[in-house]
Amino acid sequence: MTANPGQTIVIVGGAIVGTMSAWFLRHLGHQGPVIVLEKDPTYRYASTTLSTSGIRTQFGCDINVRMSLFGAAFMKAAKQHFGPDADVGLRENGYLLLAPKGPPTARLEAVRMQREAGASIAVLTPEETRARFPWLNVSDLEMATLGTANEGWFDAWTLLQTVRTGARALGVEYRHAEAVGFETEGSRIAAVRTAAGERIAADWVVNAAGPAAGRVASWVDVPLPITPRKRTAFRFSGPLDGAMMPLVFDTSGLWMRPESGRFICGITRPGDDPPAWDDFEPDHALFEDHVWPALAHRVPALEQLRLEAAWAGHYEVNELDHNGVIGFPGTPENFVIAAGFSGHGVMHSPATGRGVAELILHGGFRALDLSPLGYDRVRENRPMVETVVY
Ligand SMILES: Cc1cc2nc3c(=O)[nH]c(=O)nc-3n(C[C@H](O)[C@H](O)[C@H](O)COP(=O)(O)OP(=O)(O)OC[C@H]3O[C@@H](n4cnc5c(N)ncnc54)[C@H](O)[C@@H]3O)c2cc1C
Repeated sequence: MTANPGQTIVIVGGAIVGTMSAWFLRHLGHQGPVIVLEKDPTYRYASTTLSTSGIRTQFGCDINVRMSLFGAAFMKAAKQHFGPDADVGLRENGYLLLAPKGPPTARLEAVRMQREAGASIAVLTPEETRARFPWLNVSDLEMATLGTANEGWFDAWTLLQTVRTGARALGVEYRHAEAVGFETEGSRIAAVRTAAGERIAADWVVNAAGPAAGRVASWVDVPLPITPRKRTAFRFSGPLDGAMMPLVFDTSGLWMRPESGRFICGITRPGDDPPAWDDFEPDHALFEDHVWPALAHRVPALEQLRLEAAWAGHYEVNELDHNGVIGFPGTPENFVIAAGFSGHGVMHSPATGRGVAELILHGGFRALDLSPLGYDRVRENRPMVETVVY
């Protein structure tokens, strides 16, 4: 089953995943109405705008490596797609993943898989790591891996606005509206209902509601184990030159990278991020208790630093396996899910948007086979766990 040229496609959620889906629907030639419903056009609480905008190819699942490479290529082709002024600020400084003392077998196996999928990854001894990054304490490390291309960071807000403007220029309609339910007819969604009492007829519906995607799916009794979990990020300045610095992911769960002459950082502590539906209050204690000690250990120069700001956003965590879900749940038959990216949704949004458009317009994936991320594994409780998450 594929969309007819004049059919109406309604997308719930107008941040990066919804916007990429809309743009690719037009890019691949859909002529009928594409309507994006966004409850907050300022995107104040969207994960996209609160994210730390990193892109990496170091993942445990090879589909994620391939999606990142697609994302990097898309960002590099911004001018081609969106005109000579388009620039999403991609900086390929790499991710430096540090490994603690111990047998490195699993890490080296991951590197082999990442390279096979097309990533450029260097394996560094502690001495080589220190030679390249003399400010780093390597005394307790076994090794490090560094992405030498297609890894780093970009400006998520600019990416969103660039693609959104491009989508609108191609006739995508953005409506300031909160979806509150679906009307079904037989095995299909017939319309989306909004908080203002509108009924928007739909031939196809895409669930791109980010952390709220589980709630949206529940309107049509589709189980989707996605929970919003709060993540706090901090900005600080310190006596260190960040110009050539990669994003450092430490053995403690700490990550840090340079940002506009300063640094940003955070820490991943498994089990420490409870579900947080409306809570956007930064966890200030985290810095004092966990982040700062880890920073000072790994980068001794940062014993002296000045904390300047903190903010919190929501990860849309797929509790099944920390991987996105892209596909048809089956019933309703015209419903597509694109959510659950668990901290890697911006970098994967170009591949996701293209995949959503291909599913609707062609009935299957073409550019990149995203079928491992389909809904079947949720239905069958068959996790495909992504281990490199933070
Ligand atoms: C602190 C932090 C750091 C991160 N770092 C990275 C990173 O380095 N790299 C990376 O790739 N990813 C990162 N992520 C994850 C990334 O931000 C998300 O995976 C990605 O933004 C998901 O995009 P989305 O469009 O699905 O969701 P969102 O950006 O949350 O957008 C969903 C949109 O749907 C709207 N919406 C929801 N419900 C409704 C409704 N009922 N009706 C209408 N509109 C609705 C919301 O208002 C929102 O605008 C990070 C996230 C956080 C919180």
